Amino acid sequence: MRQKIVAANWKMNMYYMSGIKLISEIVPLIADEVKGDVKVIIAPPFIHLHSAAQLMYGSKKVFLGAQNCFFEEKGAYTGEISAAMLASLGVQYVIVGHSERRNFFNEDDVIISKKIFRVLEDNMQVIYCCGETSVQREAGKHKDVVAKQIETALFWLSKERMQKIIIAYEPVWAIGTGVNATPEQAQEMHAFIRSLIEKKFGAGLAQETSIIYGGSVTPVNAKSLFSCPDVDGGLVGGASLISSDFISIVKAGE
Ligand code: PEP
Repeated sequence: MRQKIVAANWKMNMYYMSGIKLISEIVPLIADEVKGDVKVIIAPPFIHLHSAAQLMYGSKKVFLGAQNCFFEEKGAYTGEISAAMLASLGVQYVIVGHSERRNFFNEDDVIISKKIFRVLEDNMQVIYCCGETSVQREAGKHKDVVAKQIETALFWLSKERMQKIIIAYEPVWAIGTGVNATPEQAQEMHAFIRSLIEKKFGAGLAQETSIIYGGSVTPVNAKSLFSCPDVDGGLVGGASLISSDFISIVKAGE
């Protein structure tokens, strides 16, 4: 059985007090209402990581994630945060390759691979994001684009390290737009990604790898997306900022 995962990406939202309030709401709600075996990862902005780690302490279902890190170990990199710093706070997952970082911060395959290396070196897990733009999909190139993203970022990893990777398929046209991929589109791409992993790393690892879907997941569409055989949960942006909506989405992953 693959691990079902619902991860929250708060992006650049929530001030100090409102962030603490949101985590304080989510953690007990999950303990009370979520009975199934779904892992919840919350990736707030850096300013919340310390309080979040304390508020999640002891939870068996909720884990701490970060939205980014730098690829160097330490040193004169003003404004950056290292993977080891995150690990020292109790962070267990780091999102790498998000389309917003590819677009706004010019993160290319080299930078992304270095970040993946660093996160794994520091014994955390990677949530690796991939996905095509609407232009690429309309041109019928979506599978080629995603295959290249998967191959360049992940195919140099050992089998052992690949086990620490969660893949998030996030079509760029669905992120923050209110237009989600249909369950059929998501299933088709997730099955394709799994077939790529199978070819490179074997059927066992492919069957064990959690591939989650991201892009305008809401309480209304979560169940139909997460019920697809190759969709192992979701990466949720906007809807993770409202505790009741997020809990409904987590429950759809049970
Ligand atoms: C995301 O940024 O990872 C995301 C999926 O955002 P949203 O749910 O808002 O589309």
